[in-house]
Amino acid sequence: MSAAATQDLRGFLRGIEERNPADLLRIREPVSNRFEMTAVALEIERRGNSPILWFEKVEGTEFPVVANVYGTRKRFAQILCVPEEELLDAWVRRDRNPVPPKMLESGPILDSVQTGEDVDLSRLPLITHFHEDAGPYFTAGVIVAKDPDTGVRNGSFHRLQVKGRDRLGTSLHSRRHLWSLQQRIEARGEPLEIAVVIGAHPLFYFGAGLWKGPIQADEYDVAGSFLGEPLEVVRCRTVDLEVPARAEVVLEGRIVPGVREPEGPFAEFTGYASHASTNHVIEVTGVLHRRDALFQDVVSGNAAEHTGLLRVPGECRIYQALKGILPGVRAVSYPPSGACRFHCYISMKKTAEGQAKSAIFAAMGEDLSLKWVVVVDDDVDVYNEEEVMWAVATRMQADRGVFVVPHAMGAILDPSSRNGLTAKVGIDATAPLDGWTAERCTVPEDALRMVRKKLKAWIR
Ligand code: MN
Repeated sequence: MSAAATQDLRGFLRGIEERNPADLLRIREPVSNRFEMTAVALEIERRGNSPILWFEKVEGTEFPVVANVYGTRKRFAQILCVPEEELLDAWVRRDRNPVPPKMLESGPILDSVQTGEDVDLSRLPLITHFHEDAGPYFTAGVIVAKDPDTGVRNGSFHRLQVKGRDRLGTSLHSRRHLWSLQQRIEARGEPLEIAVVIGAHPLFYFGAGLWKGPIQADEYDVAGSFLGEPLEVVRCRTVDLEVPARAEVVLEGRIVPGVREPEGPFAEFTGYASHASTNHVIEVTGVLHRRDALFQDVVSGNAAEHTGLLRVPGECRIYQALKGILPGVRAVSYPPSGACRFHCYISMKKTAEGQAKSAIFAAMGEDLSLKWVVVVDDDVDVYNEEEVMWAVATRMQADRGVFVVPHAMGAILDPSSRNGLTAKVGIDATAPLDGWTAERCTVPEDALRMVRKKLKAWIR
């Protein structure tokens, strides 16, 4: 069954506005394209809420801007149409049935086409997010490219610095699939053709942008798996690629071989301005957009949206990897305290001593960014950090429960790493199976249920 009524961002937003109006905030007053939108997102987040933000009038552009679509973990569950408790299982189920895209002759993305001399990126929203940023960035772009050897399509999020009418800078510092494609074609002295999709149905972004699988997997097929139906695509105008027929904005272009130009600094998910960049350059050869296109933006830095884009895919990846070897694993969290990248909390029903350490090894092996992995028993809510730390405080003794792996590979963007090398901490905060007599205080469930009903009347 399809989870997407229409395969586009605007259809998804219409659904949110109809069913969960509090989750979408329309801002009708004009906003500045420098810092103001980030300030709105951060301030609203600080108040404990994180609705999608729809800026109807943005300085310097005709395009309205939609940001913070991925601002909460709950939103990821909404996109998959499940309660938040079922998010990880739903994600793991949804990526298993790859289905090839369906080619259409035409589609709304071709409403407006500019190529060659008519390309002008300055018509688009040029948003400067943070004081430390080198300038305006496009932050919601999924770069699509084909493997030069196999033709398999890859998609991935990358920051895009606007450098001129038809010029972008980007960084492939994660050195994953797009990096590999570009390295191979550059060795032949050729450009890598790309398309940048800005504003598409979230399930397209899940499959083609966030999903991390083997390089042999065509990520448009994976997008189809998330959508539950073939992704509808049209041919690009200036490059040999296909893009979602109902995307809002698409940039066509090529990563220039043998050219590197300074890119950044850019406010990264770590909460620091990142000067690390591979300094790649993109020449833009075409701009496609829908009539009345919505321009999508991701609130960058360590705002909840940017880290949230790392959070759920990371949790799912560890959950899936651990489930295969330790069926007692219940939940995985990448908490915001670790920039949703460096800390991992795992709950499990332990059936033998030593399993918690196995879980820690497996998690650290699966995601090299992890620096701090804590395993707790299955009665502990890993999405409540205070509860995790309470388990560390009351069930763990450091001489047996903590170990450090020095000098291991880590994330390049971690400012405390040395040349990408980092120390890893594993913490087994599960209670011992034998000789553990401490009883956790509880209130019977029926008493809680009764009081919940009464409280509705007592507190208005
Ligand atoms: Mn990939």
